[in-house]
Amino acid sequence: MSSRIVKIFDTTLRDGEQSPGASLNIEEKIAIAKQLEKLGVDVIEAGFAAASPGDFEAINTIAKTIKNSTIASLSRTVKPDIEKALEAIKPASRKRLHTFIATSPIHVEKKLKMSYEAVLEAAVEAVKYARNGCEEVEFSAEDATRSDWDYLCKVVESVINAGASVVNLPDTVGYTTPVEYADLIKYIKNNVPNIDKAEISVHCHNDLGMAVANSLSAVLAGADQIECTINGIGERAGNASLEEIVMAIKIRNDIYKVSTNINTKEIYRASRLVSKLTGIDIQRNKAIVGKNAFAHEAGIHQDGVIKEKSTYEIMKPEDVGIDSSSLVLGKHSGKHGLEKRLIELGYQLTKEQIEDIFEKFKVLADKKKEVYDEDLHALVEDKIKFSPSLYEIVSLQVSSGTNITPTATIKLSKNGEIFEDAALGDGPVDAVYKALERITFVKGQLKFYEIKSITESREALGEAIVKVYFANIDKNILGRGVATDVIEASAKAYLDAINKALMYI
Ligand SMILES: [Zn+2]
Repeated sequence: MSSRIVKIFDTTLRDGEQSPGASLNIEEKIAIAKQLEKLGVDVIEAGFAAASPGDFEAINTIAKTIKNSTIASLSRTVKPDIEKALEAIKPASRKRLHTFIATSPIHVEKKLKMSYEAVLEAAVEAVKYARNGCEEVEFSAEDATRSDWDYLCKVVESVINAGASVVNLPDTVGYTTPVEYADLIKYIKNNVPNIDKAEISVHCHNDLGMAVANSLSAVLAGADQIECTINGIGERAGNASLEEIVMAIKIRNDIYKVSTNINTKEIYRASRLVSKLTGIDIQRNKAIVGKNAFAHEAGIHQDGVIKEKSTYEIMKPEDVGIDSSSLVLGKHSGKHGLEKRLIELGYQLTKEQIEDIFEKFKVLADKKKEVYDEDLHALVEDKIKFSPSLYEIVSLQVSSGTNITPTATIKLSKNGEIFEDAALGDGPVDAVYKALERITFVKGQLKFYEIKSITESREALGEAIVKVYFANIDKNILGRGVATDVIEASAKAYLDAINKALMYI
C-alpha cells in the first residue's frame, strides 16, 4: 500500500440528491450517511443548509449521528447562507464549511453580473467569515475549468490567505479532458505561492463521460481529495462515481501510487442502498456495481474463468462486497440458517425483525422453492422502511378480466383501527389506487410506474416502484413494494408513497 492517501469526499447527499427525480426524506438521508461512514469516506457533504428547512434538519441530524467522517454543508458566499450552514454542522465531531462562487467569465459576467474584483472579495470575505465558526473551510471556484487560469491562481492564493484549508477546482459542466485537467492542477501548484498550505480538491461532472478519468488524472497531477457520488448520480449526467475511482486506485496502484481510506467491501451495499432509496436504477453494464459487472457470457470466457479466475477477472466480486457464494435457501431452511445468511449479507437486525422476515421467508419459500440472496435483500429492504407505516394492508381483493370492470376491495389498518372500501378502475392497478385514495383521503398523480422481477423465475418476487405527485404538498414521492403478486406489490408501493406524503401534512 502506498503512503500518500487521497481523501474521498462524498457528495451523494448534496450533488447526488440534485439528480433529476431523486428526492430523499430525512430518515433515508441518515441511512445513507451511516452507510457512507461504514464505507469509510473522509467527508460527507450532507446537503445545502440554506436550501430549505428540510435540508437544514437533515444536515443537523447527520452531524449529530455520524462520528467518523467529517460533515460538510455547502453554502454560497453570502452571510445568511454561511450562518445556516455553520448552525447545521455545529454538532458534528468533525466539521467543514464548504463555500463557493463562480470564477469563469460566462458565470461571472452572465450569471452573477459582478466584476472580477467583487467576486474575489466575496470569496475572501466568505472564507474569513466562515473561519469564525469553523476551523476547516473549503472553497470552491465554480466552473474552474472554464476560468482564466491566472485569475484562478489569484483567487486560490487569496482564499488560502483568508484561511481556506481545502481548495476545490470543479469541472462543473463536465467540459475538461484528462490531460487539460492535469495541466490545470500542475499550473495551480506551480503558480500559487502558498498552495502548500491547502489541499487541492477535484469535482468532476460526467457530461462527456470523462468524470472518473479526469479525477484520476488530477490525482496523478497531485490532487489530494476527490469529490464523487455513489453510482455516479448527480446533476445532469452525474458526478464521478465513487466506486470506479476507488477501485481504479486500488487495482492500478502501480500507476496511481496512492491509497484511500475506503473499505471496498462496503461498496456494493452502499450502491444498492442509494439506488433503492433514490429510485435511480444502476445500468446493467455499469462498472463495479452493475448486474453484469462480474458475469461471463461467452463460452471461451466461462471456460477461462473456471480454469483460472484471473484470465478474465481483474478484481474479485468479494472485493466490492458482492457475495459470490451460490448458497440457496429453501423451504426446509430453518430460522437459524436464514439468520446466518442475513448476517453474511451484512444485515444487523433485531430479533423481532428476523422473526418477521422468517415468516415472510417461509411463505416465499413455499411458493418458489429456491430463495436467492436477491430475494432476501428484497425482503429485508421491504421490512426496513425509512418512513413510518401509518397505513398497512390487511387484505386486498381484486377482480379483473377481459369482459368485466376491474374492482378492488381493500382493508387497511392504522393504529389498530380497520378501514375498508372498494373502487372500480380502468385496470386492476387503477382500481387498487382509487380504493387506497378513498380510504386515506390522499390524492396523488401517478408520474411513474414500474414493475420488475427480482430473480429470474415465474414465481419470482415482483418489485413495484412508483413516483407519485401530491399537489397539496407539491412533492414527487417515491414508493416501493415487494410481493410475489404484482398487484399486491403495486398496492404496497402506492401506499408507501401515501404514507410518506402523510408525514408532510
Ligand atoms: Zn457538482
